[in-house]
Amino acid sequence: MHDTLPLLELTDFPPIRRKTLDTLQVNLGYLCNIACLHCHVGAGPRRKELMDRDNIELVLEFLDRQNIKTLDVTGGSPEMNPHFRYLMSSAASMGVHLMDRLNPTIIEEPGYEWVADFLAEQRMEVVASLPCYSEDNVDAQRGDGVFESSIRALRKLNDLGYGKPGTGLELNLVYNPLGPSLPPPQAALEADYKQHLGDEFGIEFNQLFTLANMPIQRFGSVLVSKGQFDDYMQLLKDAYRRDNLENVMCRTLISVDWQGYVHDCDFNQMLSMPIGAYPKPRTHLRELVNEDLKGKPIAIADHCYGCTAGQGSSCGGALN
Ligand code: SF4
Ligand code: SF4
Repeated sequence: MHDTLPLLELTDFPPIRRKTLDTLQVNLGYLCNIACLHCHVGAGPRRKELMDRDNIELVLEFLDRQNIKTLDVTGGSPEMNPHFRYLMSSAASMGVHLMDRLNPTIIEEPGYEWVADFLAEQRMEVVASLPCYSEDNVDAQRGDGVFESSIRALRKLNDLGYGKPGTGLELNLVYNPLGPSLPPPQAALEADYKQHLGDEFGIEFNQLFTLANMPIQRFGSVLVSKGQFDDYMQLLKDAYRRDNLENVMCRTLISVDWQGYVHDCDFNQMLSMPIGAYPKPRTHLRELVNEDLKGKPIAIADHCYGCTAGQGSSCGGALN
């Protein structure tokens, strides 16, 4: 795989600093019940990397000391970390809003029958990946049978009240383009998704988050192999919108890897760029428990243009 960081380091992206931190995003490990072609962490059933109990305790201490409003967990399939239920129920009892980045097929995996009920009991916001409403496209990206399994899992979440008006149980879906183009306008695509998934499968959900593809990891490597890297970077730069800069997700979030090291966002984590001005040595979460991060510089490179292009892109979808 081509490492795209050397192509991104020399950047003219504007310097940015953190505002008040409100979200801690934590990668609980790379274990996943499926292995998608596009997976940016190379997760799969044979991966052994999982956050250990000491780091889980540290996450809880950090949430408490820093008065963090939202815990956003990702993976792999975060539910496959053996400490998942302990972490999430402990954080819920502290009044923290919980977000689970769910691969819906885990709900049907033998041994994980508890997942759907547990998500609802803890009133977690669910952000589920479903890269298309067409079976062929989803199965091509994620593997045979994944679409059908995802649909059954989403129905189960609907049965528990997820995505239904008045329940407060939020079910949001995530879309990113298959190739080197910007996502279509979020509101129009959301309406399409709602119509298709509603009419064909009776599925309801709250919002669709559209994300731009980042020129990193497997997607970046494919761009390099096909000679499309420079064109895609130009597309992102040409679509730069300054008003998105205020709201890029790193302004209010930090991202912790499965070993407890801290990055300015998930993309920087995938590029092994430590938190703060780059390059510098990596920083562990334990060093930041009592640290005020407001006003501190954020490590940037050319991939940051992926967050500011067009309608903007973040882990919560479009920025405007
Ligand atoms: S479901 Fe998500 S974490 Fe698992 S392999 Fe696919 S993209 Fe990676
Ligand atoms: S890639 Fe990360 S650091 Fe760069 S603007 Fe986006 S969220 Fe911020």
